[in-house]
Amino acid sequence: MTQPATRLSLAISFRRLLQISLAILLLAAIGIGSATAETLALVSDRVIDGRAAKARPGAVVLVDGEHITAVADRSEIPADATVIELPGTTLMPGMINAHEHPLMYASDYQNAHLQGSSARKALMGLAGAQEHLLAGWTSIRVVGDADVFYAAQELRKVIDDGIFIGPRLSGAGHYLSITGGGGDVNFLSPEQHVIADGLVVDGPEEVRKAVRREIKYGSDWIKLLVTGAFQSVGDNPRNIAFSPEELRAAVEEAERHGVPVAAHAHAAEGIKQAVKAGVRSIEHGTFIDAEAARMMAKRGTFLVPTIYVGDYYAETGDLLAQEKNDDYMKNDRANFLAAIGRAHKAGVKITVGIDLGGYGVDPTVFAREFAILHEAGMTPMEAIQAGTRVNAELLQWEDRLGTIEVGKLADIIAVAGNPLEDMSALEKVSFVMIGGKVVKRPGRTESLSGLLIRAPQH
Ligand SMILES: [Zn+2]
Repeated sequence: MTQPATRLSLAISFRRLLQISLAILLLAAIGIGSATAETLALVSDRVIDGRAAKARPGAVVLVDGEHITAVADRSEIPADATVIELPGTTLMPGMINAHEHPLMYASDYQNAHLQGSSARKALMGLAGAQEHLLAGWTSIRVVGDADVFYAAQELRKVIDDGIFIGPRLSGAGHYLSITGGGGDVNFLSPEQHVIADGLVVDGPEEVRKAVRREIKYGSDWIKLLVTGAFQSVGDNPRNIAFSPEELRAAVEEAERHGVPVAAHAHAAEGIKQAVKAGVRSIEHGTFIDAEAARMMAKRGTFLVPTIYVGDYYAETGDLLAQEKNDDYMKNDRANFLAAIGRAHKAGVKITVGIDLGGYGVDPTVFAREFAILHEAGMTPMEAIQAGTRVNAELLQWEDRLGTIEVGKLADIIAVAGNPLEDMSALEKVSFVMIGGKVVKRPGRTESLSGLLIRAPQH
């Protein structure tokens, strides 16, 4: 007999809760108890919108709340707008890094993986991601990370929930690797059993199970190591790791859940098998040939070449597989740049990815990737669009991000000077806004709640 009464009182309290919530919503709507959204007017020397072939001199970007509401002339700034003057700069969409591993906190990443707990990686990764943001990178696609658990997905949650300020994250918890592949630990004796940095799987059934597990714990991309890698010990970038059956199983399973696949592939034949299997992006693509480029152009497969990382590590001695990187620099880099130029001409969508790990590297140098794409034959404007609009398309966020256009989320940066004349301007980011929130502005060092405070690293 007590049950119905309990249910009734629950129902009443639920209704009361609903009434209170509605009242709060109403008060918020008429501006009581919450700040009314103010219009911000961003004023610089020119605007690169991520779509037009030319910069627009003297244009002003108006932002209301989270969104861009106008790209206008200075005379059109509303009287009540707050004006942010950014003289000597160029406004452009926030940069998007389409290839990153925020949890890799040291150059010898496989040793670091074995030594660092998932909690340590999460903390280091958060600090690194915030530094990324302050260097102008407002979105990051995680292409699998070195972790036993899913710290990268937890990072995404605390940022999305507004607990910490950080870039928008998307991506895969792990890179799937074959036994002995680039995601396996291949430098220990057979007596040792460790949990590798990648998710090691063999055969279509294990691949399917791994894809399901990745999605279960929050991956919205699947990452496959289709060929060997340059920076891991004991495998060869010219060899293909997964069989065509395993590739098909991965893409088919991911597709059934509406999740795209990113394929790490250096060898031309590996690229072709991955493209045939239906992946959305090829990562690196070092030995891409004309046929692979034609296939990619035809199917709209993106190429994320990640070139600067090789330059960064040239002859440093910092990598576990240093000799492979040095060999690439000596024998393959020039051919790779020429091949990227040809692929671009053939219509392959080239994008910007950095692959330089989360912690320990000054993120201002990441923007050097743009200048290298220019070296490979793209115009400065095409390179900038590759790291903004084209990357937003790769991430399937083109409805919200990637350009400075009315209705888009206000992820906007200002860089010193004119990057169309001097691409090193992209390394000098003086202003960063994400979702309409200013997180960096010239000459101001106010601490923001939600931003970690730690000792300077660089
Ligand atoms: Zn990578």
